[in-house]
Amino acid sequence: MTTRTSKAREELEGSIKGSILVPGDYGYDEARQIWNGMIDRRPAVIVQCLTADDVPPVIAFARRNKLEISIRGAGHNIAGNALCNDGVTIDFSKMRNVRVDAEKRLAYVEPGATLADLDEAAQAHGLATPVGINSTTGIAGLTLGGGFGWLTRKYGMTIDNLVSVDIITADGKTLRASEKENLDLFWAIRGGGGNFGVVTRFEFQLFPVGPEVVAGLIVFPFDQAMRVLTNYRQYVNSAPEEINVWVVLRHAPPLPFLPGHIHGKKVVVLPVFYSGAVTDAEKLIAPLRAFGDVQGEHIGVQRYGDWQKAFDPLLAAGARNYWKSHNFTELADGALSSIIEFAGKQPSPHCEIFIGLIAGAPNRIAANATAYAHRDAKFVLNVHGRWEQAKEDQKCIAWAREFFNASAPYASAGAYVNFMTAEEVDRVAAAYGSNYGRLAKIKKQYDPENVFHLNQNIKP
Ligand SMILES: Cc1cc2nc3c(=O)[nH]c(=O)nc-3n(C[C@H](O)[C@H](O)[C@H](O)COP(=O)(O)OP(=O)(O)OC[C@H]3O[C@@H](n4cnc5c(N)ncnc54)[C@H](O)[C@@H]3O)c2cc1C
Repeated sequence: MTTRTSKAREELEGSIKGSILVPGDYGYDEARQIWNGMIDRRPAVIVQCLTADDVPPVIAFARRNKLEISIRGAGHNIAGNALCNDGVTIDFSKMRNVRVDAEKRLAYVEPGATLADLDEAAQAHGLATPVGINSTTGIAGLTLGGGFGWLTRKYGMTIDNLVSVDIITADGKTLRASEKENLDLFWAIRGGGGNFGVVTRFEFQLFPVGPEVVAGLIVFPFDQAMRVLTNYRQYVNSAPEEINVWVVLRHAPPLPFLPGHIHGKKVVVLPVFYSGAVTDAEKLIAPLRAFGDVQGEHIGVQRYGDWQKAFDPLLAAGARNYWKSHNFTELADGALSSIIEFAGKQPSPHCEIFIGLIAGAPNRIAANATAYAHRDAKFVLNVHGRWEQAKEDQKCIAWAREFFNASAPYASAGAYVNFMTAEEVDRVAAAYGSNYGRLAKIKKQYDPENVFHLNQNIKP
């Protein structure tokens, strides 16, 4: 056992309720697995907290021993900053409780909760708040970077529905940040990531949603991609905010509603979600079928909570992943051509290019109202390089980078911090946009020594 690990036990045991895991311990290797299979980091110690009170002694221990700190929500972030090498990981995987006050339409969420944890607790009362589209994603990381999903057009980004947080700063103090207390900090954590401290509790506003919604997929042949995308562009210009339609260009998975000859072939998929009255759905969905020759369709009434899990099988943990992303205020012809060109040469059947539609409520908020600055973005494009074997790394990463460069001229200036890899240090200022200066000042106030730097880092 190294000095670091024995010191961790000696100094932390007795002051925390959670588990202390060091290399060689049962559970250590499992605890250092995260969603992106490319990340292989070995913390000197992983502290699986059981209460918020476990956090200050861990921060103090790390600072005393000059160890880096990483914070793990649900470990989904592509950059892998949930883990560190030779430092201390504050792991919230055992703190997933969600309490819902149905009368006040509020949810109180622990920092290890996944989207599924929040959705299930809120849907028990017919409530929800906008979160992402893969239910195993962590509420913590998603929220601190912005957060968007099917409900975003109507109800805004996840941060737009954040009411308060409890946050432990670098000096070990617990603060409440909201519109009433510590306003600067509340502004900064809504998009500024894990730069300002360790959030131990989130409070969200909820809305009546479902429990039944109309949702599903319509699949078109890849050779009609331009026709489908130009129709899509026109449709979403005037579609009401209750309906959300994204675009995914990928190889067709062997879904039972698709004819066998389509399986494994490139296709254009429109995932469709409608949260208004079930009886109104058909008239809004019908025009989508005329975008091209439908190869298969599976749309119907289903529980919102089930739809939130619909993409989980395609996005399971453990594969190798490399992402690049752009924001768009519009889908110019050049952008569509470039999307189709690169979708046509996907280097692995697990890769995909997706266009997420966020036009609506987020655009009605001023760029300086929260740290998330990209209030003009209507579409978020993600080049999702995903593959199985290390020997495919080079070609898959090269594909994602080339496409990113080819589509850059049509993108708006910003970047979504939650989709950035660890190497994109030169994009950090763009990711925080016009709010970077204010963020740096707040960082200096709350974390002058940059204790929390394993993130898309804002320098104090
Ligand atoms: C398959 C998949 C689908 C996705 N879909 C969407 C989507 O639809 N919409 C969307 O907006 N995003 C989406 N994302 C991106 C997602 O929002 C980010 O990956 C997010 O960071 C994940 O949060 P996490 O808690 O699971 O991550 P982690 O890797 O655990 O944490 C990410 C970072 O957040 C910070 N952090 C985490 N917890 C805390 C805390 N308690 N206090 C302070 N800082 C903390 C740390 O800096 C940490 O490195 C998706 C990601 C994946 C992998």
